[in-house]
Amino acid sequence: MEQAYFYFLLSGLGVTAGAHRLWSHRSYKAKLPLRIFLAVANSMAFQNDIYEWSRDHRVHHKYTETDADPHNALRGFFFSHVGWLLVRKHPDVIEKGRKLDLTDLLDDPVVRIQRKYYKLSVVLMCFVFPALVPWYVWGESLWNAYFLASILRYAVSLNTTWSINSVAHMYGKRPYNKTINPRDNILTVMGTLGEGYHNYHHTFPFDYSASELGLKFNLATWFIDFMFWLGLVTDRKRAPKEMVQARKEKTGDGSR
Ligand code: ZN
Ligand code: ZN
Repeated sequence: MEQAYFYFLLSGLGVTAGAHRLWSHRSYKAKLPLRIFLAVANSMAFQNDIYEWSRDHRVHHKYTETDADPHNALRGFFFSHVGWLLVRKHPDVIEKGRKLDLTDLLDDPVVRIQRKYYKLSVVLMCFVFPALVPWYVWGESLWNAYFLASILRYAVSLNTTWSINSVAHMYGKRPYNKTINPRDNILTVMGTLGEGYHNYHHTFPFDYSASELGLKFNLATWFIDFMFWLGLVTDRKRAPKEMVQARKEKTGDGSR
């Protein structure tokens, strides 16, 4: 079970610190070894390759809760949680997605190579590798290892990610901007290594911490800070305190 949790954290970093904060939002810069690590962890998460994930996510931010938003929460809880992956994309999503500038993604060889070998890397990193390690290293039965570390871990991590698009677009507080739907929701914070401060994130999407700092649970931020300390991260962008404060006073719901 511990190994399943470990893979959960690893694949989670590939999405939060990787596809989300680094590649979709460019909220900090990462050196090559770290980008390779994040791309491998991202394949373990099997949530579409970095290029596609980032394109969908940029459209989500630019056209939140319109037909061009891939997981438009106005279409209901189920649609924004998982339904959007089961039906054909709305034509607006495709049209607006095409108009986005994604050259920065294609300029990164790590993104290109991960996209080229995506299927193979998913089979290896999402399904084979997580099961083989516990089996080989400490003699766990192959079936147990596969079920817990690969399948169960994958199912749980998909649902926690999806909860940002469903739960955090419907339930929670809006300390920064009460005129938008995304909300700060502590349950989703716990499940996603710190991505659930979603009202903050939609208000200040360029902020590498995706939250106001302080003693907040935010594993992805702690990871990025640790990598900064190791010299693998530079240019962490933050929303200045005064800007956040002014925004709270102007459009916040008064909950913080
Ligand atoms: Zn959102
Ligand atoms: Zn985002």
